Amino acid sequence: LNSKLPHVGTTVFTVMSQLAQEYNAINLSQGFPDYDADPALFDLNEKAMKAGKNQYAAMPGLPALRERIAAKTRDLYGVGYNPESEITVTAGGTQALFTAIAAVVVPGDEVIIFEPAYDSYAPTVRLFGGLVKPYELEGPDFRIDWDMVKKLFTAQTRMIIINTPQNPTGTTLSEADMQELIRLTRDTDVIILSDEVYEHLVYDGRQHLSVSLYPELRERSFIVYSFGKLLHATGWKIGYCLAPESLMAAFRKIHQFNVFSVNTPMQHAIHAYLEEPQHYLALPSFFQEKRDLFRNMMQQTKFTLLPCQGSYFQCVSYQDISKEPDTEMAMRMVKDFGVACIPVSSFYTRKTEQRILRFCFAKRTETLEQAVNQLSKIH
Ligand code: PMP
Ligand code: GLN
Repeated sequence: LNSKLPHVGTTVFTVMSQLAQEYNAINLSQGFPDYDADPALFDLNEKAMKAGKNQYAAMPGLPALRERIAAKTRDLYGVGYNPESEITVTAGGTQALFTAIAAVVVPGDEVIIFEPAYDSYAPTVRLFGGLVKPYELEGPDFRIDWDMVKKLFTAQTRMIIINTPQNPTGTTLSEADMQELIRLTRDTDVIILSDEVYEHLVYDGRQHLSVSLYPELRERSFIVYSFGKLLHATGWKIGYCLAPESLMAAFRKIHQFNVFSVNTPMQHAIHAYLEEPQHYLALPSFFQEKRDLFRNMMQQTKFTLLPCQGSYFQCVSYQDISKEPDTEMAMRMVKDFGVACIPVSSFYTRKTEQRILRFCFAKRTETLEQAVNQLSKIH
């Protein structure tokens, strides 16, 4: 069959997690916790199922859950999204990203992506005939030079995708970055797709800067969130999208024929669980502890830590260990040292010489200790 994505193979997350299994390695590659979600959540799910909440939910999501999302957004960012017309519950962040891109990108449109980037953006843009315009960030700090971004803008620029905190770099956008983004998009009809799935995973007292905080950005943005991160349950695959009414109307036209609606009992469970805001307000300190533990232990190794301001990822350079490409280094680490990670070059559309690896620290203390113990044997 003539594939619509001829250059796309299997996603690196599947490849590395399978390899970890095959070699019985500690899996710090794909981003997911190795501890369980709160059992209270399972009880709520069971309760919903037993109460007969087992048929299709409303197409844009359970109304009560959309109300709760609206309240959460108001509390955190001081902005009111209308649950009727501006909030849609999706099958995870990935479906929200896919649907937002599908809703606006037509053949020939250009989409600016900051790389290294989450690996679904570029293939989805291409699937709908869009052209990916990568802005290549460079380690160790991966900062954005907005004058260079401006040079990527053309009359065909349709969308710019941002991700803060960013996967895989662990960087966050600053107030200055947001002001630059406002300046850059002002007087254009460029749409922003803002991937904020790590909104609660920000460290050292930082505030997450959502595009929703800025009226000029909000009016042109789809914002994507994932309950997988919030609930420590990536397998539940439920998330949501916020957008002003006109954008959301276009989004729902696709959503209704893509998934139609999302798992009903789980939406009830999440709605009830979010009654307690502490369930998400506690996340920054919960994850900061893991980040600090992992960073402190990694000092014993020959890897060099890059900054980590957010997300559940720590990037490292291995310049003092080897000159081999990062994919080879990652393969060797699984096979010879029993630890799986992600080579950051796989998050670029073009070949890159960067020698950086990404580790997920959303793991139990024992797992992190064992992993670092193995990693300290690499010289
Ligand atoms: N965006 C980013 C940056 C991610 O890292 C992920 C995966 N964790 C997603 C979107 C997708 O989220 P979900 O698992 O809810 O589809
Ligand atoms: N977001 C997760 C990561 O970056 C994985 C998501 C996936 O497996 N598609 O590791």
